[in-house]
Amino acid sequence: MKVAFASSEVFPFAKTGGLGDVTGALPKYLHKLGIDVKVFLPKYAVIDHSKYNLDYSYPIGEMPIRLAGTTHQVRVFHSYLPGSQVEVYFIDCPHYYHRKHIYTNDADEDERFILFNKAVIESLQRLNWKPDVINCADWQTGLLPLYIKDNYSWDRFFDQTATIMTIHNVGYQGRFPKETVHKAEIRPELFFENSPIEIWGSVSFLKAGLMYADAINTVSETYAREITTSEYGEGLEGVLRYRINDFQGILNGVDYTVWNPETDKFIPAKYSIESMEEKRMNKKYLLETVKMKYDPDIPLVGIVSRLVAQKGFDLIVKSIYDLMNMNLQWAILGSGADEYENLFRSLSYAYPDKVFSYIGFHDELSHLIEAGADIFLMPSRYEPCGLNQIYSLKYGTVPVVHKTGGLADTVQDWHEYFARGEMSGTGFSFEHYLPSALVSTMHRAAGVYRDRETWGRIMYNGMIKDFSWEASARKYIDLYHKAIYNHRFR
Ligand code: ADP
Repeated sequence: MKVAFASSEVFPFAKTGGLGDVTGALPKYLHKLGIDVKVFLPKYAVIDHSKYNLDYSYPIGEMPIRLAGTTHQVRVFHSYLPGSQVEVYFIDCPHYYHRKHIYTNDADEDERFILFNKAVIESLQRLNWKPDVINCADWQTGLLPLYIKDNYSWDRFFDQTATIMTIHNVGYQGRFPKETVHKAEIRPELFFENSPIEIWGSVSFLKAGLMYADAINTVSETYAREITTSEYGEGLEGVLRYRINDFQGILNGVDYTVWNPETDKFIPAKYSIESMEEKRMNKKYLLETVKMKYDPDIPLVGIVSRLVAQKGFDLIVKSIYDLMNMNLQWAILGSGADEYENLFRSLSYAYPDKVFSYIGFHDELSHLIEAGADIFLMPSRYEPCGLNQIYSLKYGTVPVVHKTGGLADTVQDWHEYFARGEMSGTGFSFEHYLPSALVSTMHRAAGVYRDRETWGRIMYNGMIKDFSWEASARKYIDLYHKAIYNHRFR
């Protein structure tokens, strides 16, 4: 089976969050299962051309791509996902991609990804490589299913090509003014109230993907259920209910070649389930590095996150006095909204012995925090899958989470299971999205931390969990078969 992945992020080349981790890992595991995979990604300025040995792709050559009245000369570069034979194609168009960040608020953000979607299709044609499935990820690739079925339906080459829309976060829908319809060369008659590409007066690339794909999935089972409701669906719940027979959740896996405390190249003391006590050395190292005092009796709370309200920072703001009054230390890494960046900057200024914060993106530090912290806090309002809590389990860093989406599917509350007579809890979670619930759950966690034996048990329970990609990759293959069936026989 041939599968093309199109994504706006692929680790290690370009990543802002979990999407990059997934598209940097899943193709490798599919390849191991015998799938012929190619990955497509824009060639952003942040991608280190020489580090990854990018070659010019001669079979594709130079492609003229028309967009909003201008013809752009697009070139394509080629490399491999590190440690694998999976080919990655980088769509190069400096006018659109040579900017400071992967995503922008520029007025032509729609054009940047219209061009990407068209370039993926034209590259496939020129490579003469006919995929059985194109797996799209989020709104940035949402036009592909529509293009394949409509704009490029003249090309018999794609007759047998099915499309999958994977939702990594339904909160980002690629909504643009109606003029975008013309820029994207979508047939104007497809834009009307409640049409397959319209939502609240805007055109939505994600909605287009959901309506035209042959099958849809998202990244956990609980989130799949949640987003068919108005509370979580962000306006697209009706579309998802309409497509319910073609829609499912598949939990993301973890690339344990990257996230494993036994082999992690960024941490000074490697450790495993047999040598859990070594973890302490990483805490010491982290605290020394950030000039905070090491005290084994004070739990160190780690946060690694995009600093946006979705991740629960509004709850943290509302409970900040209670949290700061607790006997905890904090190591916080993230970037995002000014409000939260400023809060954490001032907290580390006000409480230098208690709070360390680094505002920015820092791959190495994210690994150090996973290895050094005792507790990992992730109180997301909603969470499609969430990866850091799963990494935390492997690193013996006990997660404290809001029980939603992928967090609910991966973290078992210690007290809830204990009350049932089971000692299998892996973390702490709270049901109601309220500051008081967050604070009392942090108190529960800090209380259990004092009981070292029980804490060790919880760490152990998390560390033996296996969320590797193998099982999820097989589910993707089943989904591809389903999409191919839908495409050919419906
Ligand atoms: P989301 O995709 O919603 O941002 P996930 O938990 O699925 O959340 O994935 C987040 C990924 O991004 C993790 O690999 C995490 O380590 C990484 N990450 C987030 N913020 C930072 C940061 N500031 N520096 C380094 N890595 C980060």
